[in-house]
This record gives sequence, C-alpha cells and structure tokens, in this order.
Amino acid sequence: MDNSVGTKCGVFGAVHLHEKKIFPYVYWGMRAQNHRGHQSHGFLTYDGGFHVYHGLDLIPKIKRKNLQEWLDRLPGHIGIGNVRYTTSGRMEEAALVKGTQPIKIDGSGVKLAVSFNGNVVNTVSLRRELKKDFPKFSYECDAELICRKLVKSLMAETDLKEAARTCMDEIEGAFSVCGITEDGNLFAFKDAYGLRPLCAGCSRKKDILAFSSETVGLSINGFEYDFEVEPGEFVTVNRSGFERENLSSGKKRAFCAFEFAYFARPDSKLNGKYVYEVREEFGRNLGKEYSDLVKEADVIVSLPQTSNDATYGLHEETGLRWERGTRRHRYVTERAFMLLPEERYSTIDRKINILNNNLAGKNLIIVDDSIVRGDTTRVVVEKMRNLGAKKIHLFITFPRIIGPCFYGIDMATYGELIGSTRSPEEIAQAVGADSVNYQSLEGFVSATGMKKHELCFGCVTGNYPTPLAQRLANWMRKRFENGHVEKGRIYEIDAPNLM
Ligand code: SF4
Repeated sequence: MDNSVGTKCGVFGAVHLHEKKIFPYVYWGMRAQNHRGHQSHGFLTYDGGFHVYHGLDLIPKIKRKNLQEWLDRLPGHIGIGNVRYTTSGRMEEAALVKGTQPIKIDGSGVKLAVSFNGNVVNTVSLRRELKKDFPKFSYECDAELICRKLVKSLMAETDLKEAARTCMDEIEGAFSVCGITEDGNLFAFKDAYGLRPLCAGCSRKKDILAFSSETVGLSINGFEYDFEVEPGEFVTVNRSGFERENLSSGKKRAFCAFEFAYFARPDSKLNGKYVYEVREEFGRNLGKEYSDLVKEADVIVSLPQTSNDATYGLHEETGLRWERGTRRHRYVTERAFMLLPEERYSTIDRKINILNNNLAGKNLIIVDDSIVRGDTTRVVVEKMRNLGAKKIHLFITFPRIIGPCFYGIDMATYGELIGSTRSPEEIAQAVGADSVNYQSLEGFVSATGMKKHELCFGCVTGNYPTPLAQRLANWMRKRFENGHVEKGRIYEIDAPNLM
C-alpha cells in the first residue's frame, strides 16, 4: 500500500435503447470506479451532438434537487465517462483540467468522442506524426493521441473498425477505449495485449448495454456481466446486442498483474474470479511459503484496505490471530504526494489509525500488497516500533518491483523504486523491518487462475511485453546504473533515438 502509486484511468460507456436518460447510469458506473483515478473526472453524452462536463478531484455527490440540472446539462441516450489519475503530462491544475476526459475531437469533418484507460508508449513519434495533420492539440492526455489517430484514419475514409485496427497496429501501449461516433454509435476496443481491464454487460431487460473498466461499474447499476473485451477486440453495440470482432494480429495477451494485487476493487471480477478471492489466496500462499516465520509470530496486522483480504487468507491458512489494529479514516482520500514531503508522516496518521492496544512486545507479521517507493512502509514500521512491537516481518503479496511501468501505473523511473537496486534483506534494512518476504511469482500466478504467459510482469522481471517498452527499459536501466539522474518520466522526453 504505497500511497503515492496511481493508475491512469477508469472508463464507462452505456447506451439506452429506449430512453434518452443515460447520464445516471454513466454517473454511477464512474462513481463505482473512482478508485481508478481521482484527480479529475468527466462525462460526455450524445443526443445528436456531444455534451460534456469536466471536473477536478473526486466525482461529486449529486443532490436530488440538482438532478434535473445534470440531466439537462448531459442529455441523450448514449454516454461515456472517465476518472483520471495522471501518469503522463504535467501536474499543475491547468494541465489537469486540459487532461480531463472524455475528450471530443472535431477535425476536418469527422467528430468523435473518446474515454480511455492506459498509457501510450510511443507517444513522441505518434505526436510527431499526428502534428503533421493536426498542428494544434487541444488536450494534455494520451486519449487525444488515440482519438486523433482514429480521426486521421476516418478522414482517409476507412471505417471505424479499420481505424481501430490501425490504432492496434501502430500505437504501442495499453489502451482500453470507449467512444461515441458522430452518428451516435457506442464502440469499445482494447490494445492487442489486453493490458488493462474492460468488460461488457447489460441490464436485465437488455435495453441498456454498457462497457466498464471493472465489473463494479456494471453491478452498481444492476447490470449483468456479459464478457471481458478480449485483447485486440473491437466491439460495437446495436439493437440486437454486442457485435464483437477480433482484429489482433497474433500478439500475446499480457494482462497487468498489478491489477490483481492493488488496483482493482476486491468486489470486481477479473478473469472470472472475484479479486478478493484471489487476494485471499495470496495470503494463503504467503502462509505456506514462509511457515517458519509464521511459527515465531504472535499476530498478523493488515494495512487497510487492499491487504485485508490477503490477511484474512493468511489468518485462515495459519490460524494466527489477526489483530485488527489498523483502521482507515473513512473519508480521508488524499494521497501522500499531494502534500509537502515533510507532511508525509502525518499523512499516514490522517489516513490510517494504528491502535496500540495489543502490539507491545509482540512479534508481528504485517501484510501489504506491494512496496513501491517504500515511504509508506518505512513510516508504518516506525510507528509499530514506537508502539512497542518486537519483531516486524513484512509479507508482501506482489513480487518485488524492480523496474518502471510503461502501461499506465505511476512508476516511471528506476531511481524511485526501492526494489530496483536492493535485495529483500536490504529493503528490510531500509524500511526498518526484520525481514521482507515477497510472495513467489509462481504462487501469485496460480492464485489468479491465469497462465504466466498471459500476464504482464514487466516491472517484476524486467521483461516487458511490447518492444519499445523493452528497449526503453534497457536504455533507462543502463543510464541509471551509470549514475544518470532520472528526471521524472524520462522515456517521454529524453530518448529521441529510441522513439
Ligand atoms: S509493468 Fe507492472 S504495473 Fe505495468 S502493466 Fe506490467 S505488471 Fe502492470
């Protein structure tokens, strides 16, 4: 649970076949997915033209007395929505506003609206190519690159399916896209590796059809899950349902493994399994893999909330007491990076209350989902020590992160990652714990129910599923090892020969 890690976005899109009031469904679909991004949010509906609302921060509550105002502002039977956490572009407020999705492009006779989750890797070359046709860009997000790439193909009089195929062939990265055409058709497609989730479902009467990053976007609306959009699949919606076509050219599936450990909500389903069940299995695996440490421990403590399910699994497997000694402050949602560095310690206090009743003199196992930068872990260990804990063994469900992510998770450089140069023993020393114990890769894979070759573990193994990301990673690693100081998202700005 590193507070400073974010994912890029969550998307939702829906069409009502009979009524012209889609906004409430899109609203709830996005509210259920606010955990995927809370720096900005937006809605776009269609009733012959596009209507857009953008805002910063969390999606606001809508009071009953204001509902009509929202319905008037966002009319129509088709809508898409987005929540965003920026992993590219600038972080100032003006830039966040410009990066808010959904976006709409009205270029040379083609109108299109798009909401997207992921991250483009070949952003430099793509931007260079698109600038020739579109000298002026309107937004500050990768969604614009995808939307303009689609528009460019449509201007050349290909159809939307072929335009999506061009995106899959020529854009490297993760993209789960949901969009609306100017004649009012809802569509969705995924990159050929299927890095990010995107599922489809419909209302019981089958009169509302929807796409959602996670299944919780469907269930909050009372919709039934239908299918996960496959890697390289292009899906349209018509009166008889979903029309699916796979356009991928034989690339292999590489679903982000970190979704299972950290990002997805526990009540979402990934690969047909509830995420909480997978996390419980992670905990059981840790209990089996480190049974010697379990024997000398007195209690297990979880760090809320993403490690609660793994803690339950570990408790169930070992019979060791789960001391519910940490509680999350329910309505505090700020992430650590949003405050001043010297405020980090108190940020943990504001987010998590550590109860001191039963920790003094005890040997603890603390379960966490991941260690990224180590800041949060260090503070938590220090607080447990101050409360009198004797030994502290960290059990981590996601294997050691050694490299950056190029596909939409906020881990940009080697230098920021505590695991990029340190062994588990050295990490333990750096965060003040007695030991750090990662779940094995094999255990992780078997808990997900997927095959190892179907998952992306780029940040864990250094083997990335896409070619440019691999070249960039190798190049960045070499420079890092030679003492080059990485300046943020270096691969977007500073690797001209590779792009
Ligand atoms: S590199 Fe890591 S975080 Fe990024 S998509 Fe792959 S598994 Fe997920």
